[in-house]
Amino acid sequence: MARDDTPSPPLQPETLAVVSGRPPREPGAPVSPPLQLSSTFVGSGTTPPGQPVYGRVDNATWDACEHALGVLEAAPGGATLFASGMAAISAALDLVPDGGTLVAPDAAYNTTLELAEVLQARGRLRLVRVDVADTAAVVAAAAGADVVWLESPTNPLLQVADLAACAAAARAAGALTVVDSTFATPLVQRPLGLGADLVVHSVTKYLSGHSDLLLGAAVTSDPDLGARLRTHRRLHGAVPGPFEAWLALRGLRTLGVRLERAQASALALAGRLSGHPAVERVRYPGLPDDPGHELARRQMRGFGAVLAVEVAGGADAADAVVDALRLWVPATSLGGVESMVERRRRHRNEPRTVPEGLLRLSVGIEDLDDLWADLDAALSSARACGPATG
Ligand code: PLP
Repeated sequence: MARDDTPSPPLQPETLAVVSGRPPREPGAPVSPPLQLSSTFVGSGTTPPGQPVYGRVDNATWDACEHALGVLEAAPGGATLFASGMAAISAALDLVPDGGTLVAPDAAYNTTLELAEVLQARGRLRLVRVDVADTAAVVAAAAGADVVWLESPTNPLLQVADLAACAAAARAAGALTVVDSTFATPLVQRPLGLGADLVVHSVTKYLSGHSDLLLGAAVTSDPDLGARLRTHRRLHGAVPGPFEAWLALRGLRTLGVRLERAQASALALAGRLSGHPAVERVRYPGLPDDPGHELARRQMRGFGAVLAVEVAGGADAADAVVDALRLWVPATSLGGVESMVERRRRHRNEPRTVPEGLLRLSVGIEDLDDLWADLDAALSSARACGPATG
């Protein structure tokens, strides 16, 4: 279906998030894409090509959401929605040929790394782990790779990878570059424009933005790769629910204002936390002294709204902070309108390089001073109760 989103002059990403994937602008047409709930479609003796056939392959609500994500990432190969971020990641990892080499971060989203390790243990691929903030190490590892997997900023250490340099090295070596851009969203970072072949998102997070669904997307510059991903989805069956796709597109419409608010609050909180006596270290690429700051300034439009703090006193002190919070939600997700906090090492599959006392903070859209008052009180009370930290 033709869509009303190829306007001229070119529009800003915040505007594209509002207008992309709408039905055609015709008198009497709905402004918002309708929710299509049907597992199958009426056929005829000879179904013409392009006509929907079955709900594991075709759905008009998916189309609208995929179209919008494809426009936002400026992706000639389009976007493919999956049932979750992990389903999209699993499809992308399937691009590694049998016996091939996957270069992956030594610290990043724990379940991606767990899946890569499982695939290596089964003999499906060879895994080479690198520090993605060490560009020279990624470039060196890319030489023998089939797929270079990057995440930037990383979950939960907020490391920043040099996407252009890493993708160029991968391309020169004949390897594909995949970037998990969940923390950035296409409003903050567009990896395909920096040379990546594929971007994956947990749509569960910022893109949908309300902590009420699970969804993933794989978005590519290459139409052949796009076709392979859609074939993977059809064969493996990790299809998105139409209602989830509809909710995600609804959430996407407000991504610009949500991110603007959340990023501004994250930057302010990172600064205040840096001066807090109960905090040993703040990790946030928006801080001028953060190791990823200069690179983030070059390749991102903003610094995202996730930050990490290392609480003085380690795991027990960090747990006490979580328990003392009243406004921040203790939960394992991010990117929603509500601010969330989690001590990541509580997960058994979290990389060991993540400090025990590290709290990941996902900043939402509540009032900044309310967020700060809650954090300050919890940090101060945990410090008062805990062992002397000097
Ligand atoms: N990628 C990143 C960076 C994540 O943080 C997550 C989930 O937390 C995922 C992928 C997986 O997404 P989902 O939970 O939608 O499967």
